[in-house]
Amino acid sequence: MTLYPKLILDALATVRYPGTGKNIVEAGMVEDNIRIDGMKVSFSLIFQKQTDPFIRSVVKAAETAILTYVSKEVEIVGNISIKTIQQARPEAGNMLPGVQNIIAISSGKGGVGKSTVAANLAVALAKQGYRVGLLDADIFGPSVPKMFQVEDARPYAETIDGRDLIIPIEKYGLKLLSIGFFVDPDQATLWRGGMASNALKQLIADAAWGELDYFLIDLPPGTSDIHLTIVQNLALTGAVVVSTPQQVALADARKGINMFTLDKVNVPILGLVENMAWFTPAELPQNRYYLFGREGAKRLAEEMNVPLLGQIPIVQSICEGGDSGMPVALDENTVTGQAFAELATAVVRQTELRNANQPPTHIVEVSK
Ligand code: ADP
Repeated sequence: MTLYPKLILDALATVRYPGTGKNIVEAGMVEDNIRIDGMKVSFSLIFQKQTDPFIRSVVKAAETAILTYVSKEVEIVGNISIKTIQQARPEAGNMLPGVQNIIAISSGKGGVGKSTVAANLAVALAKQGYRVGLLDADIFGPSVPKMFQVEDARPYAETIDGRDLIIPIEKYGLKLLSIGFFVDPDQATLWRGGMASNALKQLIADAAWGELDYFLIDLPPGTSDIHLTIVQNLALTGAVVVSTPQQVALADARKGINMFTLDKVNVPILGLVENMAWFTPAELPQNRYYLFGREGAKRLAEEMNVPLLGQIPIVQSICEGGDSGMPVALDENTVTGQAFAELATAVVRQTELRNANQPPTHIVEVSK
């Protein structure tokens, strides 16, 4: 009898993983490295966690399946190696096939400048030559229409390859969509969770985002159904958490970080941004007044072992830029433009580090 991988796979497909009820091949738990040497067979099974209670029973069932359905003569050699993926990702649909990196911008509470950071980070990345999309998912306070002065824009749909797709608005070299184009913010509270989530899914899956290097999502503050929709439907590269230096804001930021690092969610934190880190009069940028306390976010970043991506001062022009539809990041020759350019560089660096490590796997040997 000649063994070949398909025979082994067919046998393994008879084994169910009790955690999900799916067969282990369908569940993607059999690695594509089945080795055959005569009647000797070795293969790897992937489990999400080293502590998975089903490891032993699944390994045993896999061996039995091969001996039963292939041949009693098969010798399963050495130990079956179990790869536990510590960064277990949710089963993310491939909703954005042309997008390299998906980054959520979040904050523990409202008013800390999350949308300001998201908009300026998007502009700064685009200025550095990246292809960038920005989705404003903040149903309770959509700000992209105002911050990019596209309040009157009405995105239209176009049939592309037989599908009706929403065409994002283009401004300053970015592709933009906002839930605010579709929902009257005054009625946002009337939107039940499911409705908002469905609208959002459409803005992601049924829009012509095309090829992008960075897709930024400006999330609502705190936690909500919207967050669940995002983490369940997208393979997020990571999250950027924005906070101001006050203790109350930091306490919420800590909760915000924890929300992403929960076992079930497991989204890497790319880092923390300290917004309103100090007040600087535009004409005297070397003068710093620490209105909300000093370096609170920096300490939180150290405590939680996440990178501090940047510190953005309070400058009147940031607020004015937001109100007038001209984000300050458009002009790198200002203190504020510079701060966002540096933030963009830090985000790119952390993203690249993440991508280089992906997936962090960890091999343990299961002794029989
Ligand atoms: P959030 O999205 O967290 O609710 P916003 O980005 O809407 O917060 O910011 C709230 C307000 O603070 C806006 O008016 C914005 O222009 C202003 N703002 C945000 N960051 C700064 C800053 N660094 N300097 C000056 N004003 C800022």
